[in-house]
Amino acid sequence: MDEFEIIRRFFDRNSHEVGVATGIGDDGAVLQPDSTKQQVQVIDTLVAGVHFPESTNPADIAFRAVAVNLSDMAAMGAIPRWMTLALTLSNADVSWLEDFTTGLFEAANAYGVALVGGDTTRGPVLTVTVSMTGEVEEGAALLRSGAKVGDEIFVTGNLGDAAAGLELLQRGEQDSTELIGRFLRPTPRVGTARSLSGTATAAIDISDGLVGDLLKLLAASGVGGDVEIEKLPLSDALQSRFDVSAQRQFALYGGDDYELCFTAKSADVSGIDGVTRIGRVTEGSELVGRINGDIVPLSDSGYRHFQ
Ligand code: ADP
Ligand code: MG
Repeated sequence: MDEFEIIRRFFDRNSHEVGVATGIGDDGAVLQPDSTKQQVQVIDTLVAGVHFPESTNPADIAFRAVAVNLSDMAAMGAIPRWMTLALTLSNADVSWLEDFTTGLFEAANAYGVALVGGDTTRGPVLTVTVSMTGEVEEGAALLRSGAKVGDEIFVTGNLGDAAAGLELLQRGEQDSTELIGRFLRPTPRVGTARSLSGTATAAIDISDGLVGDLLKLLAASGVGGDVEIEKLPLSDALQSRFDVSAQRQFALYGGDDYELCFTAKSADVSGIDGVTRIGRVTEGSELVGRINGDIVPLSDSGYRHFQ
């Protein structure tokens, strides 16, 4: 099976949607953007052994590759529209590709994203790069830089589940399917983010851990923050499987949750479901953590590829 057959058989499935004048099969895709909107462009690469264990199911790898880009779209408050896929495979295995494309289109179709092109190559390490384009009303993108003193700090969903799930996977303990599922198939908060448009003053998605990512938001906004650690939203699954100290470590420093962290005036957020207030924006540039009012040290230990 050469790459042209792989493309025709597995990837040319939904590239004829609204907004796609020419999809897969030419030298480039021709897209019809909404002329009243601004475009948001994101890209994310997943490398086997770095971003997911080598043994991960191909459907989950593909789902995740799309979901992490959708999460960036959510963090920008954008509507995802089109994506391209650069895939490096060590060999072309039909059942692997079938599983991979099942997960890929499951995620893409759930959010109305068309796969309009890509590149397929052979190489030593399985590498999946998805690039995605979305649209947002002019001036309405959610940036990292708008947090103001007087805003409160919020997160969506629960924190720490994905990192706990990854740890269970690495230990070979497969019993907590809920936590492992939260690592393998994160839920991008595209809908919640859209309802935060005009309400949130700044936003970031939590890919490297709450502390690391909140620090990026605060730095971009030129403000500090105060986080009440006992307020961090924790799932029942996390609480029943780990002690309080491990729960807090996962929630503060664990990556891969793909929840959103955002700032807003509290009153503006009262009608929005699935969000929890965890602290407030302060003057200065420090991020302070507290447990029941007492200051506890936080470290800036987000994941880094290069030290
Ligand atoms: P070119 O040589 O002009 O770059 P290719 O032969 O690499 O084109 O690709 C042929 C067509 O298939 C193009 O439309 C390209 O975007 C698409 N394509 C290649 N690989 C993938 C993939 N993994 N997923 C989706 N589309 C792909
Ligand atoms: Mg060409």
